[in-house]
Amino acid sequence: MRLCIVFSLLFCLFWSPSSQGAEVMRSHFPVRTHFQQCHDLRGEFVSTIRFDELRDVAHAVIMNKVPYIVLNPTRLATLPPKLQAFFYEHECAHHLLGHNYNPTLSSEPEADCLAVKSGRDRGLFTRADVVAFRPWIVPLRGSMRGHLPGKKRFALLMQCFDDSETDKNLAERMQSALATTARLRRARSIVHRD
Ligand SMILES: [Zn+2]
Repeated sequence: MRLCIVFSLLFCLFWSPSSQGAEVMRSHFPVRTHFQQCHDLRGEFVSTIRFDELRDVAHAVIMNKVPYIVLNPTRLATLPPKLQAFFYEHECAHHLLGHNYNPTLSSEPEADCLAVKSGRDRGLFTRADVVAFRPWIVPLRGSMRGHLPGKKRFALLMQCFDDSETDKNLAERMQSALATTARLRRARSIVHRD
């Protein structure tokens, strides 16, 4: 709750409306032209905002039922463009799969898998692009919230890329599993940490 209040204040300070969320990033986000418009589980447009003080590269956030992707342009600028795009797709996948409403220990692997498949199916990621994520992904630690240790996380990314299931079918299958959650209706302000 305290975190939600903090985000409310931050949004008042830094958020400005935009019909094209990715445009907010401008020069800080070189691959923005490849983005699809992100929509959440309800079909709501997900705006993108920048916040340099975010203690991570990106977060998926819901404030007053409005979904946002918060990006840290300073941290993202240290990463290759395609990896920046992957983290954006990862946050979008959290919104598309309703993870803010119903987080589980499998949320992070699910978001990773959908992000890779979505980028693959839209021509954003080649297999070589995903292979090139290895030096950044493998050193990452796992987390109690469900992030896989880097080596396993990278292996999952490759497994998902090589899997023939489409991102659309994967998203539909995962969404159907979430459809019955009552939390979707009553949740208002939720922060999904990366
Ligand atoms: Zn995540």
